[in-house]
Amino acid sequence: MNEEHIPAISFQSVNKSYEQNDTRYDVLRDVTGHIRQGSITAIIGPSGSGKSTLLSVCNLMNSPDKGEVLVFGKEVRSWDIKELRKTAGLAFQSAPVIEGTVRDNLLLAEKLHQTQVYTPEELADFTDLPHELLDRNAKELSGGQRQKLSLARTLANPPSILLLDEITSALDPASVLVIEKLITSWHQQKKLTVLWITHNLEQAERISDTIWFMAEGRLLETADTKTFFKDPKHEAARALLQGSGR
Ligand code: ADP
Ligand code: MG
Repeated sequence: MNEEHIPAISFQSVNKSYEQNDTRYDVLRDVTGHIRQGSITAIIGPSGSGKSTLLSVCNLMNSPDKGEVLVFGKEVRSWDIKELRKTAGLAFQSAPVIEGTVRDNLLLAEKLHQTQVYTPEELADFTDLPHELLDRNAKELSGGQRQKLSLARTLANPPSILLLDEITSALDPASVLVIEKLITSWHQQKKLTVLWITHNLEQAERISDTIWFMAEGRLLETADTKTFFKDPKHEAARALLQGSGR
C-alpha cells in the first residue's frame, strides 16, 4: 500500500510548548527527522527531553504547535483519527486500563473498530500474560502486567507503526527478553516500523538499527546504532553513555 521510499514518519520543524504558571516550556524544539519504513529506532535521552511528547504527536494524542508530522506521507491532522491510531499504535509504560476484566481490555479493538485479528488468549500468549489473569479486574494488575496488557491491546489489530514508550521498565529481566523477542520477530514477519523509547541503553543497542538521541526538546543526533554506541558525536550523548557505566 505504502510506497517504500516514503518515510513511515516525517517530523518537519516540529515545535511544542506548554504554559505553566505563566512560564513557557519548549518541549519540542524544531525537531526534523525521518523514520524509514521497516526500521527500529530507539529514542533515548534524559528524562524531560521530549521523547514521550514526540511519540504523542505521531498519533495525535498531542498536536504540534508548529511544523508538520507526516505518517506515510500524509499530515497527521489530515488523517481520519481512528485510521491514524490503527496505523500508528501506541503502547505506554503505565497504560490507562478500561473498567472491567483483562479480557474486556483485550477486546477493546473489537469494540472500537468492530474487528480484531487476535483473540485475548492469543494476545496473552504473545505478551507472556498468564491466562488465569484474563478474568481478573484489570485494575488489580501489577505495573509490569499493565505494561504487557498495554502492548497486548495495541497488537490486537497489528499496526504498521508501533510506538512504544518505555514498555519494559517495570518488567523482570526474563519478561523484558520475551517482549523484545516478540517485537523483533513481529518486526521481521510483519514489516513493522518501530519507534521505541527506552532508558535501558543495553536494550536500545540490542533491539534497534537506528538511534535518535534527544536532549532538551531537540533531536541532537541520529545515527545507526553501532556507530552511535562506538562514537557518539555530542557531548550530552557521551555523558549519557558514561553515566550508564559504558
Ligand atoms: P520524556 O519522555 O523525554 O521524559 P516528556 O515528553 O514527557 O519527556 O516531557 C518533556 C517536558 O514536557 C517535561 O518537562 C514535562 O514536564 C513537560 N510536559 C509534558 N507534558 C506536559 C503537559 N501536558 N503539560 C505541561 N508540561 C508537560
Ligand atoms: Mg517519557
